[in-house]
Amino acid sequence: MRCLLFFILSFPLLVSAQLNKDSLMIKKISYEIMTNGRAYDLLRELTKNIGGRLAGSPEQHNAAIWGKINMEAFQPDKVFFQPCKTPNWKRGGKDYAAIVGINGKATNKKLEVMALGNSLSSKGLMEAEVIVVSDFNELEARKNEVKGKIVYFHSILHPSIIETGKAYEDAYIYRSDGPSRAAKYGAIGVMIHSLSTAPDNEPQTGVMEYNDSFPKIPAIALGPTDAKNLFEQAKKSMLRVQMETFGYFLPDADENNVVAELTGSEFPNEIITIGGHLDSWDVNEGAHDDGTGVVHTMEVLRAFKSLNYHPKRTIRFVLFANEENGGMGGLKYAELAKLNKEKHILALESDDGGFTPRAIGIGCTAAQLKKFQTWTPLLKPYGTEVIAGGGGADISPLSKDFKNIIQTSLLVDSQRYFDLHHAKTDVFENVNKRELHLGAVNIAAFIYLVDQYGVNF
Ligand SMILES: [Zn+2]
Repeated sequence: MRCLLFFILSFPLLVSAQLNKDSLMIKKISYEIMTNGRAYDLLRELTKNIGGRLAGSPEQHNAAIWGKINMEAFQPDKVFFQPCKTPNWKRGGKDYAAIVGINGKATNKKLEVMALGNSLSSKGLMEAEVIVVSDFNELEARKNEVKGKIVYFHSILHPSIIETGKAYEDAYIYRSDGPSRAAKYGAIGVMIHSLSTAPDNEPQTGVMEYNDSFPKIPAIALGPTDAKNLFEQAKKSMLRVQMETFGYFLPDADENNVVAELTGSEFPNEIITIGGHLDSWDVNEGAHDDGTGVVHTMEVLRAFKSLNYHPKRTIRFVLFANEENGGMGGLKYAELAKLNKEKHILALESDDGGFTPRAIGIGCTAAQLKKFQTWTPLLKPYGTEVIAGGGGADISPLSKDFKNIIQTSLLVDSQRYFDLHHAKTDVFENVNKRELHLGAVNIAAFIYLVDQYGVNF
């Protein structure tokens, strides 16, 4: 009886002592990163000294060497390369498009454009009437009008959708599948509205995928202003457009995932992964996409080492070689995890930009989520809460072989990301130091809690 009474009385004390210990540790993590953090300086090096890092480029290759050297300097237990093949697409020249005829009358209105990633060369300047469609339903309804024309998809990110990532997902299919869907009905080229939220005229590139059953026609994204004007004009008048692209593929390149590890002291076989991707598009510095995820990852390692934190579980810090045009980095990481019979319990990806952190998104069951949400009071002072829905392209291949792995991501304020994403404006100057470092604080705090309690607490 006394024993039980003691237990009942002391239980809340034990819990609150634990909470105290954790909140003190997280405070230390925050102090360390906000005061001595190196993420911003590392991002400057990556974006300014190395620059855009399309898979297969010398810059991408150098970025992996840079990542390895810098993580070695933080003295983790291990740092190693995971060699991996990546696609090797080249833009090949200065993409071009113009409106050259309105209702049969010659004009010359040059358009701001960028070829989509993977788009092949137009093999010279092509010219045709443009047919504008709002969506695939309209394409299907008007399929008999498409032959010999250039199809324009009005793939806007709808401004009414508050979560911009959701708006991007809705429009994404026009970029990825639009070219082959139009080629099926005889189109000779495709234009899309850039998947952009910006009130500017910066075109945004991004990956598209050819369906091998149809001709591989060239595809370009228009700057938002030019796209909207073309869409409105084409509804009233017959427009002729020209376009020229230069894309081609070289044989697959030899690249590397860069992996650093803090080996667990109690449960070394339970692996927690944090990562971002090293590659970017060729047209910018890949600052928010995904330089910030790369330096978040490196900063968490640096902070843990500098606080002399010895994790119970093994923590892997991964700079993935290729996400943008093939996702080969994540596939290689998952393939080796399976081959080496590893046990992966949780992975976190940072690939939404380095903006103000809002949440740790978790992909798990409702019952598990409830447990993770008991950590929200510990994270709240640093700006995040635990919410449903997490994961990312680099860590998702792990789910194929590790059915119970929990997929998580750092969710940040999403209002500005698609202003810059895949545009030439995704540069270092558009990253805020405090927002960036606060992201690393929240990742480190969450990963610390996962390390302490595992995922089955
Ligand atoms: Zn990305």
